[in-house]
Amino acid sequence: MNKRQKLFVIATTVIVLTAVFATAFYSLQNKTEADKLKVVATFYPLAFFAQQIGGEQVTVKQLIPDNTEVHNWQPSFGDILALDEADVIIYNGASLDHWFEDDILPTIDSSNKIIIETTEGVNLLETEQENNEHDQDHEYEGLYDPHTWISPFIAKQQAQNIYESLVQKDPNNLDYYTERWQNLKTQFEELDNNYLSGLSTKAKEEIFVTHSAFGYLADRYGFEQHGVIGISADEQPSASTYVHLVEMMMDHETYVVYVDPVYADESAQTLRNELERLSGQDVQILKFYFMLGDMDGLDYFGQQEKNLENLKIGLEAS
Ligand SMILES: [Zn+2]
Repeated sequence: MNKRQKLFVIATTVIVLTAVFATAFYSLQNKTEADKLKVVATFYPLAFFAQQIGGEQVTVKQLIPDNTEVHNWQPSFGDILALDEADVIIYNGASLDHWFEDDILPTIDSSNKIIIETTEGVNLLETEQENNEHDQDHEYEGLYDPHTWISPFIAKQQAQNIYESLVQKDPNNLDYYTERWQNLKTQFEELDNNYLSGLSTKAKEEIFVTHSAFGYLADRYGFEQHGVIGISADEQPSASTYVHLVEMMMDHETYVVYVDPVYADESAQTLRNELERLSGQDVQILKFYFMLGDMDGLDYFGQQEKNLENLKIGLEAS
């Protein structure tokens, strides 16, 4: 080989190697969608936590659309196909997404998937008698209060179960998931501390709500909820329920009602009208987000912070 040929060989080698490394680097950096871990979550909070932890390494499909009634939802055929192709399936449990446990789970081939009930290991609250008495006509009656994600303290445990399932299915990205989980965990802990300190000076012990979804918050932060309707959300309250609530609210001199923007607030309006008529007081209707989707430009944590502000008003915490 003369000098010119040698230079040619070296130049060619450099070009080829550069191309090989560039291709390898490119494919490492830009996983195609097909390479990512396929995660399916039943509803918004779980999908949100999975996305926060999984970041670029996962695609997350959320079955129940944002801000939809969750208690009696039913999956479509397309949803069932997506579940079949998933690597990780995440559901709430505690009878919230009972359609998943009852109808879907027995039909899925689970051999190559991880299926995670995020309330596993959570100390579930039994449904109270007060809530159950309005539930008799309801299609589904659970043994436990399903509204676990509304408490930051319980939601943290659910998110930890999600983190562990991602690591188990995709251990190569352990460090990536762990760093993101630590950040999320810190957010939950800060929020929990804000609730603990924010409500520590409360003067009231009771709140009045349209839908009894506050059980886990009430349990952790030390107050009681009284609901116009029960644990499930699609029933019509009776006239005697209103009378009972109005009497209780006047007894407690409480003139604040909490309503989630997802649900119709007719029952809150009726309650307000009755309470104003009988007490002569102005009654405030305050928003309380159930965190079933982005709303008013707020994500899960944004809604939680707004909820705490509004709870401080109703519980008269300074
Ligand atoms: Zn609910």
